[in-house]
Amino acid sequence: MVNRDNPSNAQRVIVIGSGPSGAMAAHELLRKGIAVTMLESGQADPQGFLVRIQGRNILRWKPSRIKEGDRHVATGAAQTKWYYNLSAGGLSNDWTGAVPRFSPEDFYEGERLHERYRWPLDYTDLIPYYVKAEQLLDITATPQDVPNLPVGKHKYNHFLPKDWEGVARCAEKRGQGLTIIPLADGPPWMVAKRGTAFNSYTNIIRPLLKNSNFQFITNAHALQLEWSGQKKKVDAVIYHDRNTGSRNRLEGAAFVIACGTLGSTKLLFDSFCTDFPQGLGNSAGILGRYLHDHPKEWWAMDLEKPISPLVPSGYLTRKPYDESTPLLASSWTIGSVFLKDKLLTFVGGKAKVLGVQVFGTMIPVEKYYAKPEANKKDEFGLPLLELKIRFDDEVIKNMESARGHWQSLLDEAGYKGTIQDVAPQLFPGHSVHYGGTVRMHKNPKYGVLDAWNRLHDVPNVVVCDASSFTTGAEKNPTLTAMALSARAMDKLGEDLKTS
Ligand SMILES: Cc1cc2nc3c(=O)[nH]c(=O)nc-3n(C[C@H](O)[C@H](O)[C@H](O)COP(=O)(O)OP(=O)(O)OC[C@H]3O[C@@H](n4cnc5c(N)ncnc54)[C@H](O)[C@@H]3O)c2cc1C
Repeated sequence: MVNRDNPSNAQRVIVIGSGPSGAMAAHELLRKGIAVTMLESGQADPQGFLVRIQGRNILRWKPSRIKEGDRHVATGAAQTKWYYNLSAGGLSNDWTGAVPRFSPEDFYEGERLHERYRWPLDYTDLIPYYVKAEQLLDITATPQDVPNLPVGKHKYNHFLPKDWEGVARCAEKRGQGLTIIPLADGPPWMVAKRGTAFNSYTNIIRPLLKNSNFQFITNAHALQLEWSGQKKKVDAVIYHDRNTGSRNRLEGAAFVIACGTLGSTKLLFDSFCTDFPQGLGNSAGILGRYLHDHPKEWWAMDLEKPISPLVPSGYLTRKPYDESTPLLASSWTIGSVFLKDKLLTFVGGKAKVLGVQVFGTMIPVEKYYAKPEANKKDEFGLPLLELKIRFDDEVIKNMESARGHWQSLLDEAGYKGTIQDVAPQLFPGHSVHYGGTVRMHKNPKYGVLDAWNRLHDVPNVVVCDASSFTTGAEKNPTLTAMALSARAMDKLGEDLKTS
């Protein structure tokens, strides 16, 4: 998998991790003519198959490579999980592909609580980078803004069925939008030898392998970044080669960390040194703090009157910002439960059962964190992460009230429904949307990263995944992580010219 014809390049950037965030970074750097070496802990062999007919996934199989339980210790909620996938493409081998943009308010609404919740950038700063990411994602969506969800750059249009339009009107009266969820779903007709329509290895990295400036090293697990106290920057990464068992050292002009929220946090902690005894870039002591996640639950709802199944899923946006407690919100993704209901859509049939997935939010606080565990070690002899996080009462209440809200909305639109048993999923980690542990803030007191995802303390190290989120909006995080990554690469490109 290594393109060995590359000349070594003094300005070479090392990108660590080939999930959507790292893939976006490599894509943008190479576009600028900057040489990239990407280190990926796992292998590049996406598996599975997907058959899609007229926009409906009819057959889908993917082997589960997700792991859990061997890299952390939970000291908050006992059921706390850390799901990860150490393969090329990371968790995009497993994801659903929902890619809503954040709204303008998501970047500043937390300021109502405290300045620590103000992102160091605005929605308008991110728009061009959302577009760059969206162009790689082959998105299906409805091409119009709805309240609290700006429209993005889509490739394929899909609209709500007619009988949902009344529900959408009722939602709008409440200041909410009901639309088709923007989905990185690829073309309507598809047969693919992988389990997800988009995965960042197949869709972004594999095409980059033709570029002679790109070197992709698989089975290379980054262990530590090496800080040079003399040069006041990081000048190398030490990685474990899983093929040979050896430890290698790789120099670079800059380093982009995109190992997923907890993987990136761990790498920074593991890179402690004399100048940064609490972890690289952690002079203010907040690395790992502000850990947040989306509480998630799923329930089925029986309707008295049938309605068209939503394929792809529908999406009810959050309640208006000015009517909500700051940073507490929910979103509703509405799909079908049975394959037979999905098939009914080919002939305009209707169904009497809906499946609804709700994502809630939590206010990120210092007391919830990821940090090295003193006694337990991973396969490389480095500390496991201690994860201390729980969903407090206000978070659970917000999730519970989301059930009634949906029910009353449908009722108002003429569809009486009963919620079946709620699957017990309210534990941290279940949504696989951790964020915040290497957060951005203009003030180093509140953030490890600056407005361009560079460590305040070490500007030639850029961290660009959801660990950089200042707050966690109720929207799925990956598109915003990719957009931040693309934006950070613009700045890094400028930095490299002047360094
Ligand atoms: C079932 C499921 C459904 C999901 N659905 C959605 C969805 O609909 N929408 C959405 O936005 N998100 C969804 N997600 C979450 C989404 O998959 C992640 O947000 C996204 O993959 C994060 O991208 P990333 O590049 O930041 O991290 P990852 O995808 O985790 O990639 C990290 C990469 O870094 C590599 N790596 C880690 N540590 C090291 C190291 N030390 N050295 C070298 N390499 C390393 C890993 O092997 C991996 O390739 C879902 C997740 C799951 C599991």
